[in-house]
Amino acid sequence: MIELTENALKSDSMNIFKNLGGAFGITTLLLAAGTLWGSSLAYDLSKTSPDVEAPEITSSQTEERFQIDQNGIEIRDTTLPARPDGELAYQVLTYLCNDVGPRISGSPGMLRQQELLRQHFENHGATVYFQPFEVRHPVNQTPVQLNNLIARFHPERSLRILVCCHYDTRPFPDRDKNNPTGVFLGANDGASGVGLLCELARYLPHIDSEYGVDLICFDGEEFVYQSRRDPLFLGSTHFARQYAANPSTARYSAGVLVDMIGDKDLSLFQEKNSWNQARNITQQIWSVAGDLGVTEFIPRRKYQIRDDHLPLNEIAGIPTCDIIDFDFPQGRANIYWHTEQDTPDKCSADSLGKVCHVLVEWLKVIRSQQ
Ligand SMILES: [Zn+2]
Repeated sequence: MIELTENALKSDSMNIFKNLGGAFGITTLLLAAGTLWGSSLAYDLSKTSPDVEAPEITSSQTEERFQIDQNGIEIRDTTLPARPDGELAYQVLTYLCNDVGPRISGSPGMLRQQELLRQHFENHGATVYFQPFEVRHPVNQTPVQLNNLIARFHPERSLRILVCCHYDTRPFPDRDKNNPTGVFLGANDGASGVGLLCELARYLPHIDSEYGVDLICFDGEEFVYQSRRDPLFLGSTHFARQYAANPSTARYSAGVLVDMIGDKDLSLFQEKNSWNQARNITQQIWSVAGDLGVTEFIPRRKYQIRDDHLPLNEIAGIPTCDIIDFDFPQGRANIYWHTEQDTPDKCSADSLGKVCHVLVEWLKVIRSQQ
């Protein structure tokens, strides 16, 4: 993704939203979505469960809960915590970085990742599709096949929500001052979104909703060898064009993109393009986070970022919010971004768990307007 501008803007819109919603947990109130943003989503405040505490988990239990290797993701402890704690997400992130290595579009690492995810999502009841498309390799112009991965949960539900990330990693850490042609692992920028979708997949079968969810991993978000030359967002652009050209396929009421949400010093400001193009969704998610006490979601706008949500908003017409932490690490000018420093030790299960928790609760409370 690319940052366009940076300047923090204070917004009082959340206060307006809260006033509309009334006291949390008391009122069952459907907050109408503004038609301005083309969404028919509303929001039922009575269904979040902020009082449910996740069970205490000791580190020795953590080691035994999941086993991830070349055979796949084995869930040893099948008890689902009342709220996501991010452990599976973080273990997937660590495995992808330390065992699989770079997941550049078209590479063996990407193939290994695709197989791991296909199995995992199918094990949790999804139907998994790959959406292939061909691009020219940016360096030598040979054809390369890329694949978006789509994991469909509850296909019988005609109302759909899309939750997405990118699963390719940048070919080189080109912002690294010491070694710009070194190895880029993409712990936060790549694996964090994938890990979160893996954890979310455990919860989706149990969410009682009108909405079915498609988890989508976009390929070719940054198949970039020269940043001024090579286009971004290949997978999301292909997906959006296919969606726009085939109106008979399932329609999405809303989309959420997660990117760089693993930073152990998490700070999630509202992103300005999301605010402009999917304001209702953005307000809902930050409001749910506020109700849950997840203070890493800060209800103010800060960055304007070009990311996979732009093709979804602009080509597909799916109002899509980008949840992204563009202060990696906090307070230090995003110095790990696109460098060799983007490694698992800069990320945490706690951050991943918080974002997953907010998404699970948001998915529980959304309602269609009828
Ligand atoms: Zn990136």
